[in-house]
Amino acid sequence: MSKRTLAQLDGTQLDGQRVVVRVDLNVPMSGGTVTDDTRIRASLPTIQLLHDRGARVVLLSHLGRPAGVPDPRYSLRPLVRVLEKLLGFPVAFLADPTSSDAVSEVRHLPRGGVALGENTRFYPGEEKNDPALADRFAALGDMYVNDAFGSAHRAHASTEAIAHRLKPAVAGLLMEKELRFLGEAVDHPARPFVAILGGAKISGKIDLVESLLPKVDRILIGGAMACTFFKAMGLETGTSLVEPDRVDMAKSLLQQAGDKLVLPSGAVIAQRLDGSAPTREVSRDQVPSGWGVYDIDDASLQLFADCIAAAKTVIWNGPMGVFETPPFDRGTLGVARALAAATRAGAVTIVGGGDSAAAIAAAGLEDQVTHVSTGGGASLEFLEGKPLPGVAALDDA
Ligand code: ADP
Ligand code: MG
Repeated sequence: MSKRTLAQLDGTQLDGQRVVVRVDLNVPMSGGTVTDDTRIRASLPTIQLLHDRGARVVLLSHLGRPAGVPDPRYSLRPLVRVLEKLLGFPVAFLADPTSSDAVSEVRHLPRGGVALGENTRFYPGEEKNDPALADRFAALGDMYVNDAFGSAHRAHASTEAIAHRLKPAVAGLLMEKELRFLGEAVDHPARPFVAILGGAKISGKIDLVESLLPKVDRILIGGAMACTFFKAMGLETGTSLVEPDRVDMAKSLLQQAGDKLVLPSGAVIAQRLDGSAPTREVSRDQVPSGWGVYDIDDASLQLFADCIAAAKTVIWNGPMGVFETPPFDRGTLGVARALAAATRAGAVTIVGGGDSAAAIAAAGLEDQVTHVSTGGGASLEFLEGKPLPGVAALDDA
């Protein structure tokens, strides 16, 4: 069902209004410095629109995993300066967004003013979707915008309960874009529709394989996921990352999928996971014991690239190998390049998953695909066809 969006509200509905915006500012930090500001930049269009329309903007976000209590390591305070720099105007900080002081600070914001609240996970009620905490957050605003796609798969006080308390409750620009790209890809894909899945664990992606199988024309599998399938085929997998308790599952998926499911024909192997260890390329039935699979081989990359080149819609989730450790990044970078080429040829290409997004950024190709989702777990659950509580709670269009 489609949801009401910020873009559908006219200016008079925003001017002077106090708008609570759930953003996803859960960025990687090191020693008080933001090391990747992608998620912050992705939140800017909604903040800028509200600023331009004269709203009084209250930003709420979580950061990291504090244990429901204030923890300076996870304070959002350092993000004030980052936001100010990107937005070009001052941003206030609400040290306790549940306090009556915060309510009065927000009331005193100028039209177009922006305040950032401290980490929502400093309160034990956040992850419990606690009504009393949601009441507190709701007291800061007259209406609600959810732009935190990356947190939409969790029913938390600032993503779910609050949406029942502030009306209108609408999707922000980023949220709308994510739902449109991911939704259209799975519901109305131009064909051929190809999914490429990889990453470490098959266990986290079995639901994804099952839900995509009836929809796609082909599923290409790489990463350690492929090793569990190799095992299911009775092949030697050496020291590769295999999930023994998922081998039966993999067997039944292989039967169910027929030739829709494409596995690598060979692998890059080494005796240990170390960039300086000698490597070999072998076909998948030639993995010696004592060696592990750390990437797809060139022949498999070529096979995958050909499938991608022929596709009109491509979804990619999960790296093809241990891309953090070159030379085991070659398959992943090759797939990234194949996606960019397919995009130039007119295909819709979508990247979901935190590590896949990092990989396409490492390849410098994030602007050469149709859409890179900002939500790792959320994009996975959306593609699995699961309802996202943070979206479901918003007003219907
Ligand atoms: P995403 O975040 O894109 O959904 P995942 O989190 O599922 O991806 O998986 C990413 C991880 O998978 C990376 O850390 C990568 O090193 C690992 N991985 C990929 N291939 C292999 C392999 N053959 N052996 C071990 N780990 C692998
Ligand atoms: Mg990951």
